[in-house]
Order: sequence, then structure tokens, then C-alpha cells
Amino acid sequence: MSYDFDLFVIGAGSGGVRAARFAAGYGAKVAVAESRYLGGTCVNVGCVPKKLLVYGAHFADDFEQAESFGWTAGKANFDWAYLIANKNREIARLNGIYRKLLINSGVTLLEGHARLADAHHVDINGQRFSAERILLATGGWPQIPDIPGREYAITSNEAFFLEQLPKRILVVGGGYIAVEFAGIFNGLGAETRLLYRGDLFLRGFDQSVRTHLAEELTKRGLRLAFNTDLVQIDKQADGSLLATLNDGRQLATDCVFCATGRRPMLDNLGLENTSVELNEAGYIAVNEHFETDEPSVLALGDVIGGVQLTPVATAEGMAVARRLFQPEHYRPVDYRHIPTAVFSQPNIGTVGLTEQQAIEQGHQVVVFESRFRPMKLTLTESSEQTLMKLVVDADSDRVLGCHMVGPDAGDIIQGLAIALKAGATKRLFDDTIGVHPTSAEEFVTLRTAVVRR
Ligand code: FAD
Ligand code: NDP
Repeated sequence: MSYDFDLFVIGAGSGGVRAARFAAGYGAKVAVAESRYLGGTCVNVGCVPKKLLVYGAHFADDFEQAESFGWTAGKANFDWAYLIANKNREIARLNGIYRKLLINSGVTLLEGHARLADAHHVDINGQRFSAERILLATGGWPQIPDIPGREYAITSNEAFFLEQLPKRILVVGGGYIAVEFAGIFNGLGAETRLLYRGDLFLRGFDQSVRTHLAEELTKRGLRLAFNTDLVQIDKQADGSLLATLNDGRQLATDCVFCATGRRPMLDNLGLENTSVELNEAGYIAVNEHFETDEPSVLALGDVIGGVQLTPVATAEGMAVARRLFQPEHYRPVDYRHIPTAVFSQPNIGTVGLTEQQAIEQGHQVVVFESRFRPMKLTLTESSEQTLMKLVVDADSDRVLGCHMVGPDAGDIIQGLAIALKAGATKRLFDDTIGVHPTSAEEFVTLRTAVVRR
């Protein structure tokens, strides 16, 4: 039987674009459907605009610290609308690049909402296309708890397009998005509170990292409230909001930002017309080859609910394209040692096991830890401390985890991820000559164990 396409990709985000371009490059006839924005979450309402806002927020520190280096600057003013307009221009430029990348690689781009008609057919813009295989790369969507007044809350989707910087903001949640955006708003001068329902935010990160970051954010004036949750939002006559908390307290604010997790984007996707099944968490169920229960339909990226990071989605996209269209170059995705950063101020950078995970997995661990004032801050009033931590297996001397809270931790951790993937021992770290004077060199000069267990 002949089909219109060898591969029909639904979703032109991180994973879908990578799969489509690689598959087309291997000679397959490929279509990609996109209903919203080329480049998906990462380019439009995720990694890229978020990092631009983080840079924007960081200038507050730079202006303040410049004086300690002899600079006299006038009063610094910040214009939110200007930053957002400039950010929007850059995203539009990236959208154009994605369009060119797809078209130049021979992919047929179809802009509109795509819906599965059956296991081999997709409906879009009133047309029906057939495909030998269909790849679902539809990503995720923010979710807001079902509380009275939830319609007054915004999510990360709206935060990128606010017309004004709120004077007061309440960020709800304790994951990546809550912590990053609380830092952005606090840095830009909004009176910022972060509420998290658990004991300490960033569940799953190393305990030292979590407590260290909480201390540093508090020093910066960010108000953290743990074991606290939002139960109701009311709109006041003057347009401001009143947030009621689970302990009965009421807080007046201008904006409630729910960063309370994301769900898979399955809206009107037509899964019921196929045998595709969902897993217990509600994401599309796939096997190790990203195959769903419907033999011709595959899925990857955030919609399968694994590690929800752009480089993971792109790695999955590449693996799918290779396996289908250039199997001699196929390599499965290696989910071990995925480095990650939280772009808080200061950053978190982390790779490998936390101390707690290492112990749970039965390792005898030796922990090396250092806290110090970064050199750049020694001339300033800032009391910010950097944290670096290595978790080492006592028997084999292998480094199991590297964790950092400090400036540029996201950049520094990338190289360490290669070392961990290569199985580096602590001895190898010690034998590596540092780059002086940097913060990163501390990772090769950690000599005294702080914990052995
Ligand atoms: P997406 O990129 O979400 O793409 C899915 C695409 O499918 C979308 O464009 C959507 O419009 C389209 N679509 C959905 N349904 C249909 C349909 N029926 N028809 C047609 N098109 C459809 N990751 C990092 O690694 N680093 C970061 O710093 C980072 N920061 C983030 C910040 C925020 C605020 C958020 C929300 C996420 C962040 N992420 C980050 C995560 C990252 O953005 C995602 O993991 C990544 O985008 C997932 O890629 P994907 O291809 O699975 O889906
Ligand atoms: P996360 O899963 O990281 O965090 C969600 C947070 O919301 C958790 O603290 C969770 O609490 C809390 N929460 C969930 N439901 C409720 C509820 N009903 N009431 C109150 N709190 C609730 O999701 P995010 O939305 O922050 O980010 C989604 C994913 O996107 C991340 O996991 C990450 O993979 C990716 N991302 C990556 C970034 C990066 O690489 N720098 C940046 C931003 C996002 P609890 O812990 O108790 O469950």
C-alpha cells in the first residue's frame, strides 16, 4: 500500500522537529503538523524566553556590584514592556529559522491542529493524509489546581506575555518553573513570595542543594513559605487578588502564578480512533522504541512523561528517525547521567546521583563538599556562597554525582557530565589540573571528605 508520507509528525517542538528533519535527511517522505508555534514549548514559552528573562533579571546584581569595581552608574531603570517586546522579536526570528530548517530539509510543513482519524490517517485543515507511521510529539501544558478562583491565576504560558511587571506576585509550586520564575520576578523588583506545599522545594534534588538554594534566595529577599498551599483566590474591587492559604492566612497580591506541574497535551488528538493507550500517570504509554500499543503510531518527548527536558526530547527524536530510516546508525537513548540546571539566581547544576539516591541504591558513599564566596563577589557587599558537592562510591572511587549552586553552574556541569559518563573516579578528578582562578576548579581540588556512610 502506498501512503502520502512515510512519517507524519504531530507537533513541531523540540522532539518533533528533530525527528522530522533527521528522517527527511535519511530520505524519508515526512510531514510535520503544528497548531501553535514552530519550535514548540522550548522556543516559545519555555527554555529560550525563560533564559532571556533570567539574563534580564541578573542585571540588577550587575548594576549593584559594578560600584565595587569603581563604576559609577546613574539610577538604573527597568522597562518590562521593552524586555518583552525585544524577547518577542527574538522568538519570531527563531520561529523563522525553524520554518527554514524544516522546509530546507524537505519536510512538508502543515500549520493547523492535527487529529488522528485512524492508525494511518491524520486530519488537518479539512484534509486527510495517510502515513505509514505517525509520531506523536505534542508536548505538555501547564495545569492549575482545581481551587475556587483558579481562573484568576496565570501559568508560565501567560507569564511571558504580561503587559506589566506585577508589583506583588505569589508563585505557587516548588519545581523548576516556580523556582526560576520566582527568581526572575524577584530580580526584576517585584515583591515575590513562593509557596510550596512540601517541606522544602525542588523535590528530587540533592538535600544540600535544596537547603543551600533556599538560604541564598532568602538572602535576596525572596519570601519562601514551605508546608503552605493555596486554597482560594478572590478578586478584589480594585482589581488586585486575595489569596487564601491552607493555614487560613490571606495575602493580597497582584498576580498568582501557578507553577504546579504540567499534563500531556492530548486535547482533541483523536487517540480514541486508535489503540494507543495511556500509562497510569496519564501520559502516552510507549516501549523502549517509543512504540505505542498501536503498531504504526510512535510517541516521544513530554507527552510520554519521561524526563521532560529539551535535549532529552531531541535525543529521542534522533533515535526514532535513525531506528526507522537509518537503522545501521541507531543507538538507544542513554538516560543515565542526564545533566540538568535550574536557572535560579544562583544557578543549580547537577548530574548523577544525589547523596540520598546513592545510599538508597546501596553505595557506601564518601561526600566532598565546599562552600565559598565566589571571587567576583569578594569586592562587593554580597554574602552569596557557592556550594559544590561530589558524591563518591567508597569502594570503586567512582564519582556518582556532582552538584553545584553558584554562578554559571548550568554551564560548568556540562563538562562534568562527560566525566561521569566516562566513569571518572575521584582520583581522576584529583589528577586533573584546575583552571585558575575559576569556581569550576574547586571540583578538582576537593580533598577533605565531609561525610562517609
Ligand atoms: P513541545 O516542545 O511542547 O512541542 C509540542 C508541539 O506540539 C507544540 O508546538 C504544540 O503546539 C504542538 N501540538 C500539540 N498538539 C498538537 C496537535 N494536535 N496538532 C498540531 N500540533 C500540536 N527544558 C530544558 O531542557 N531546559 C530549560 O531551561 C527548560 N525550561 C523550560 C521552561 C518552561 C517554562 C517550560 C514550560 C519548559 C521548559 N523546559 C526546559 C522543558 C522543555 O521545554 C520541554 O521538555 C520540551 O519542549 C519538550 O519537547 P516536546 O517536543 O516533547 O514538546
Ligand atoms: P515540576 O514537576 O518540576 O514541579 C511541579 C511543582 O508543583 C512541584 O513542586 C509539585 O509539588 C507542585 N504541585 C503539583 N501539583 C500541585 C498542586 N495540586 N498543588 C500545589 N502544588 C502542586 O513541574 P514544572 O511545572 O515546574 O516543570 C515541568 C517540567 O519542565 C520540569 O519537571 C522539567 O522537566 C521541565 N523544566 C525544565 C527546566 C530546566 O531545565 N531548567 C525549567 C522549567 C521546566 P510536589 O513536589 O509536592 O509534587
